[in-house]
Amino acid sequence: MTSAAVEASRTILTGLHDVMASRSHAQAKLNDVVDVIGKSLDSEVCSIYLLREGMLELFATRGLAQEAVHVTRMSIGEGLVGVIGEGIETLNLAEATSHPDFSYRPETGEEKFHSFAGVPIVRRERAVGVLCVQHADPRRYEDVEIEALQTVAMVLSELITNAEFVDEDEVEGRNAQTGTEQMQGFTLVKGLASGFAVYHQPRITIEHVVAEDIEAERQRVYLAFDKMREQIDRMAGQAEFGSAGEHDEVLETYRMFAYDEGWSRRINEAIDSGLTAEAAIERVQQRTRMRMREIDDPLLADRMHDLEDLSNRLLRIVSGQIGTAASLGLRRDTILIARNLGPAELLEYDRRRLKGVILEEGSLTSHVVIVARAMGLPVLGRVAGLRGFVREGDHLLLDADEGLATARPAPGMVDAFEARFAKSRERQAAHAALRDVEPITRDGTRIQVMINAGLRDDAANISLTGADGIGLFRTEFQFLVSATLPSRERQTRLYRDVLDIAGDKPVKFRTVDIGGDKSLPYLRHDDGEGEENPAMGWRALRVALERESLLKVQARALIEASAGRTLNVMFPMVAEAWEFDAAKQVFDTQISFLKGKKKQLPESIRYGVMLEVPSLAEQLDLIAPKVSFLSIGTNDLTQFLFAADRANPKLAARYDWLSPSILRFIRRIVTTLEPYEVDLAVCGEMGGRQLEALALIGVGIKRLSITPAAVGPIKDLVRTLNVSEVAEAMDGWLASPPPNLRAALEEWACLKGIHCD
Ligand code: PEP
Ligand code: MG
Repeated sequence: MTSAAVEASRTILTGLHDVMASRSHAQAKLNDVVDVIGKSLDSEVCSIYLLREGMLELFATRGLAQEAVHVTRMSIGEGLVGVIGEGIETLNLAEATSHPDFSYRPETGEEKFHSFAGVPIVRRERAVGVLCVQHADPRRYEDVEIEALQTVAMVLSELITNAEFVDEDEVEGRNAQTGTEQMQGFTLVKGLASGFAVYHQPRITIEHVVAEDIEAERQRVYLAFDKMREQIDRMAGQAEFGSAGEHDEVLETYRMFAYDEGWSRRINEAIDSGLTAEAAIERVQQRTRMRMREIDDPLLADRMHDLEDLSNRLLRIVSGQIGTAASLGLRRDTILIARNLGPAELLEYDRRRLKGVILEEGSLTSHVVIVARAMGLPVLGRVAGLRGFVREGDHLLLDADEGLATARPAPGMVDAFEARFAKSRERQAAHAALRDVEPITRDGTRIQVMINAGLRDDAANISLTGADGIGLFRTEFQFLVSATLPSRERQTRLYRDVLDIAGDKPVKFRTVDIGGDKSLPYLRHDDGEGEENPAMGWRALRVALERESLLKVQARALIEASAGRTLNVMFPMVAEAWEFDAAKQVFDTQISFLKGKKKQLPESIRYGVMLEVPSLAEQLDLIAPKVSFLSIGTNDLTQFLFAADRANPKLAARYDWLSPSILRFIRRIVTTLEPYEVDLAVCGEMGGRQLEALALIGVGIKRLSITPAAVGPIKDLVRTLNVSEVAEAMDGWLASPPPNLRAALEEWACLKGIHCD
């Protein structure tokens, strides 16, 4: 905030303080409020619209016709006021009529006013009203005026709630929600759970918004910051964080924000503008949320959620309303409801009582999802309107496998869910029982089943599932959950820990595959930003070779972590053989360097490449003599083969993995590599699905690296098939493809008694 903005807000807030302290009737107060704001901003019109029965109704105005008060009503989304209310956005227009959504209301007499600025009045992240100013001159309002309006809108939100101008149930979106409600979301962590809704965040009520004594408010925030930093430091010392690897990264981000001077400065500026400590924290948080809405980068948005988590913590400390639902004690079988959740907040819960989490937001790469996965909690995210549908204590059925949640289910639904749940538990138990069983086909072929991993805790899945090792360790995960580039020491520690946990089972470390959709805010590249086709852009090995220091540091960390053992290293997105040579050269240089330093080196180093770019399939004769293993990344390979963006939901179901194109392509790789001593594997998602795995085995694949939850089902499949039979069937289908290969394979598998769900 500039000092001018601070001054403008302060003038208005001082005026409002007097209005609010007066004994006048609520409507009279609103009339005074528009007067104070209009005068302070030297604006001919100032109006307040409030939510009533789903419409935004003109409640008070200075400058528009008084007859329009309680007469002019706009639907959400209608006119400029409705647009502000719908999008919770700010509008600042020199010429209101030129906006496509302008809607003229003759009763207001507004035709003589040209400029228009409006801000939403927000309560519980919903617009409960709109505050706007209009002026005869066609001019845009200054940024300082907009800042002041936003601050005032926050104060108004408290005033109108205290005066009960808006119906709290309407704010909550709870229009007598009593019936069954089915909600769709996005599966963040798979699983099923039945339990009762508990809101993570008991409502914090801000009693006073306008400061009486600015110095005292400043002191309160200062003390609260101290306390919060203490809490974060204490958490870092707790064993849970100390041992669980990725949480280190999370806490480092937290620390960075907790000690961020910019954040505390912005809060202090808001206090200077006349707000109490609580209101100032909320104001800064509100501004962050607004910015977040404009951010398209999911990773940056995740970091913003961390900041929001801390902001809530600060607000609770300063207001003395300390507890989240975690500190109030949970009932049994809780399903936690939140807009979003910080990872540290989730860790505060008693995991024996917590059964699942439903979020209004959330994304696959967010810290909280990583932590939830480690805690074994199903998570459903991006449930639009969640907090409107669910009330505290509601019975909930969470089916994160299907991306569904049901609130207040009918009895029949509960029975059906319980049956599904019991089946899924039975299946899990049956698969878990296969832990120590070797995946050998009926005709005696040993199929290697490895897991994909990316975090320290994932490595434990090797022994939990009885997998043959880690066939793909996505090293970029450490980079993604970290606020800054992970240091060499951190990288070394992670790799060493993973190797320790894996014991004598192999781990194939893939060097960083960042760039494209996995962009890092702290690693920008001039040409990489705003790429039209990021998946085909500056990513993976291309980044690593250009930013050689990145690969150099990682090479050194991998070599040092593997001292005295075997290092398996794999390069992503290799399109031509020379890219492999260049990457290996970086490792060779590090080895010579460490040799010179008399450091202990790995016992052996095995190099490999991922085959994700079709062009590499045309250079197998060049690459095969150089590598010990090759892993087909079907996720990327499919998108390049079909020219179909893997992240585009519209294309998700268009092309089938069980397509002759893919299967013929893979079979050709198998055949071409036969004369070479190269271990060939498939490590894309395709291999974790039973029917697809069956087809892959049919074209000659004998090594799969898959998500840990799929190990049991794939072992089950392997033990019921004959390689020779499935190979013969596949040969027939690929020579002369049936119209629907999937259906043909499914029917055939069923006939043969192969275990395929
Ligand atoms: C792949 O592309 O198939 C793969 C395993 O790599 P990622 O999913 O990490 O791109
Ligand atoms: Mg890939």
